[in-house]
Amino acid sequence: MTTTGIQFETVPHWIDGAPADSAAAEQVEIVDPATGHAVRTVGLGGADLVDKAVASARNAAESWASTPTPARATILLAFRSLLLEHSEEIASIITAEQGKTLADARGEVARSVEAVEVAASAVQQLKGEYAEQVANGVDTYSFRQPLGVCAGITPFNFPVMVPVSMFAAAIACGNSFVLKPSERVPSASVRMAQLLAEAGLPAGVFNVVHGGVDAVNALIDHPDVAAVSFVGSTPVAREIYRRSAEAGKKVQALGGANNHLVVMPDADLDAAADALVSAAFGAAGQRCMAVPVAVVVGDVADQVVAKTAQRAEAFTTGPGNAEGSDMGPLISEAALERVRSALDTAGSQGGTVVVDGRAIDSRGEGHFVGPSLVDHVQVDSDLYQDEIFGPVLSVVRVDDLDEALRVVNASPYGNGASIFTSSGAASRHFAHHVQAGSVGVNVPIPVPISWFGFGGWGDSRFGDDGLNYDAYRFYTRSKVVTQRWTEPSRGVTPNFVAAGS
Ligand code: NAD
Repeated sequence: MTTTGIQFETVPHWIDGAPADSAAAEQVEIVDPATGHAVRTVGLGGADLVDKAVASARNAAESWASTPTPARATILLAFRSLLLEHSEEIASIITAEQGKTLADARGEVARSVEAVEVAASAVQQLKGEYAEQVANGVDTYSFRQPLGVCAGITPFNFPVMVPVSMFAAAIACGNSFVLKPSERVPSASVRMAQLLAEAGLPAGVFNVVHGGVDAVNALIDHPDVAAVSFVGSTPVAREIYRRSAEAGKKVQALGGANNHLVVMPDADLDAAADALVSAAFGAAGQRCMAVPVAVVVGDVADQVVAKTAQRAEAFTTGPGNAEGSDMGPLISEAALERVRSALDTAGSQGGTVVVDGRAIDSRGEGHFVGPSLVDHVQVDSDLYQDEIFGPVLSVVRVDDLDEALRVVNASPYGNGASIFTSSGAASRHFAHHVQAGSVGVNVPIPVPISWFGFGGWGDSRFGDDGLNYDAYRFYTRSKVVTQRWTEPSRGVTPNFVAAGS
C-alpha cells in the first residue's frame, strides 16, 4: 500500500492523522463500474474501530476548538490550494470508483473547492450579537461555540463534494470530525485526509472509518459524538434521524429525491430539451438533483418529447474516462437491474417507451445502460413512484400550471423543482407555491450553491437544515451572556454623565 493517490490494494481507514490498517476487518470488493471488475478492497470497521476514531477526535477537539478561527481558516485555505493542485488526480479517483465522466468529476471538485472557501469565511458567520442596556447597566451578547465530535455518513454519488460540504464547515467551526464514507467509493476520503494532514490539520481533527450499518450505528450510539450529518436514501435517512434523535444528538439527515421540471407552453423548447437531457441523464441520473420527471403543460408535449428524444439518442454512453462519453455507468449491477426492471414494467403501466436505454446491454462487463425516455407516465405507476436513480426521464402531461403544481406537490419528496417559461408571473407563482427546498427557473438543476443553505423538504430531509452556508448553525450552539459591570469605587452602575459633570 502506498499512501498517495489510490494505489491501495486495501483502502485504509484514517485515524489520528495516519492510515489505519483495514486488512483484518471484513473485506468488501471495490468494483470499477465501467468494467464490473474488482480493483481493490476495503475493510469494514465496527464498534472497536469507531471507538478508536472517536477517541482520537475527542482528544483533538479541545485544542482545535480553542485554536483561533482565522488560524483554522488558514489550514482550510491550504487544503483548498491542495485540492486545486490535485484536482485532476481527485477527479480521476472519483471517476474510477463512482463511474461519472471526468468532466462531471472535475465539476464535483470545483464545487468542493467552493465549499471550502465558504467554510474558510467562518469568522464572518460566527460573529454574534450584542445588545447594550437591556436593563439598567446590563448588556447582553451572544456567540456560537463548537459542538465537539461530529460524524458524517455519506452516499456513493458524490465521493468528494458531500463529505467536504460537511467536514469543511464542521472543522472551520472548531469541531473534530469522523467521516463514514460510502463503502462503494472509499478512496477519495482517504486522499482528502492525506491532503488535510499536508495542509497542517492536527492529528485527530479529521478521521475516516470505512464500514456499513455496524459502523454507522456505533457512531450514532457513541456517547462522545455530539452531532450526526447524513446524506443518502430516504429510508436510511429516516432511520438515522430516528436513532440519532433518540440518542439525544443534533441530526440532519438528507434523503432521496424525485425532482420535477415543468415545461410551460411559452418556454424556449430547445433550451428546455437541452436542460432535460443534461438533468435527467448527466451522471447517469445518479444525482440527488437529477430530474427524472418532466411535467409538460399544454399542447407542446409532442414537440418537447420529440426534441428530447432526438437529444437522448445523440447521447454517448461510455466509460467515464473515455473521450466523448456524455454519461458513464451505474454504480452497481443491482442499480442496473433496478433501471432495467423499471423500464420492463413501464409499458404495462401506461407509459410509452420512446427511447429505450436497454439497447445497451453490458451486463457482466460494466454497469452501462443508455438514456431512456418514457412518455405518458402515470403518477401511480412504479416508474413515477420509485426513486429510480438512473438515466430514465418520465414525461407526465398536464393541462395547466396549477395541475403541474398539484403533480409536483403531491410527491412525498421535495428536494428540487424547476420551471422553464418566458413568463415572470408564471415563474414567480411556481417559486412561491412549489413544495421544494431548491427551485430552478430556466436552469436544468438548481445546484447547491455553497453561499446558500441546501436541504430538501418533505421526505428529502429529516431533522435540521444546514449544509453549505447553513452549516455554521448546525455545527455550533449559541451561548448568551448577560452582564452587569459595576464601578468598583461606588459599587453601583456608573452614571457617566454624572461622573463627568
Ligand atoms: P444509501 O442510503 O444506500 O447509503 C448512504 C450511506 O448510508 C452510506 O454511507 C451507507 O454505508 C450507509 N447506509 C446504507 N444503509 C444503511 C443502513 N441501513 N443503516 C445505516 N447506514 C446505512 O445511499 P446511496 O445509495 O449511497 O446514495 C444514493 C442516495 O442518496 C439516493 O437516494 C440519493 O437521492 C441520495 N442523495 C441525496 C442527496 C441530498 O442532498 N438529499 C445527495 C446525494 C445523494
